[in-house]
Amino acid sequence: MKPDKLRFLLPLLLAIACAQYVAGQAKKPQIVILATGGTIAGAAATGTQAGYTSGAVTIDSMLAAVPGVRELANVKGEQISNVGSQDISFDIMLTLARRINELLARNDVDGIVVTHGTDTMEETAFFLNLVVKSDKPVVMVGSMRPSTAVSADGPLNLYNAVGVAVDPQAKGRGVLVVMNDWIHAAHSLTKTSTTAVQTFMSPLRGVVGTANYGKNDFYNTPVWKHTTASELDIENVNQLPRVDIIFGCADMPADLIDASVAAGAKGIVIAGVGNGNMNKAALEAAARAAKKGVMVVRSSRVATGSVGRNVEVNDDEMGFIASDELNPQKARILLSLALLKQRSREDIQKMFYSY
Ligand code: GLU
Repeated sequence: MKPDKLRFLLPLLLAIACAQYVAGQAKKPQIVILATGGTIAGAAATGTQAGYTSGAVTIDSMLAAVPGVRELANVKGEQISNVGSQDISFDIMLTLARRINELLARNDVDGIVVTHGTDTMEETAFFLNLVVKSDKPVVMVGSMRPSTAVSADGPLNLYNAVGVAVDPQAKGRGVLVVMNDWIHAAHSLTKTSTTAVQTFMSPLRGVVGTANYGKNDFYNTPVWKHTTASELDIENVNQLPRVDIIFGCADMPADLIDASVAAGAKGIVIAGVGNGNMNKAALEAAARAAKKGVMVVRSSRVATGSVGRNVEVNDDEMGFIASDELNPQKARILLSLALLKQRSREDIQKMFYSY
């Protein structure tokens, strides 16, 4: 080809390539990653030590470790907090939920990924499940090993979480958690191991699906009310009422229940033994609390199974609420949000059956 023809052709080819790139980018889903901290953003001095600091790495460095993620979506990171999830407060949950609602209301945002520590992941996931007002995907993700560890699990978990957030099948399933190739529903997952990479389980309901290098299989649709079907709302809410969890055990000291009432709790969740049971002294203290208008929910310290009404405890007589399938930490989230409005015990019981 003659050099003068090349001079003409080269800019044209370049322009076509640019136009194709721009069109490709525009076609990709827009995902916002909201980072809150946790081990996925943790760092240690060496790759093989157990001690590390949660929330030491920013979202930009986390994304740099997963370059392939930009082939799945156009991603934008925002830092909401950078803490170990033991320090996730209701304040942070409210800020996070508000930001998600703001972002998902926009036409140019298709889904959200939230990076979070695993310790309280189930609580934030369930909170968001109740107050996010959109059916676009909201996917939470974390890791068990810090970013500096040998075989860190964060990068692939993050890749898979974005892979779920861009999947149209994830729409309308409520808040999902993606960890170690499994997709869990916010209602049903729980952390089961302090250290294992395979820590999250959904013991009663099973997983929603699997996520494998960006390819997903969905098996279940959560049956619980969530997001757009939820009546719970955090607009104009700056503080949640105090709800305490009291752990049941043999020879349980009942005065902890009285102390909770005296400290101003509006609700108490008993992490009871077995089917939400507690000894006679604790039952009497809990009934005293209920008589004073404190909402008392019986949940269980047992890892799986539901707590039914009027099984060994006469809930109708004592004025208690049964937690059904919610473990104590999720029962506390639902009760805290339910208590934002004047609601009867019967109404709150119905909420425990439906959320
Ligand atoms: N305490 C940490 C956290 O929840 C450890 C758990 C983790 O993220 O894996 O942030």
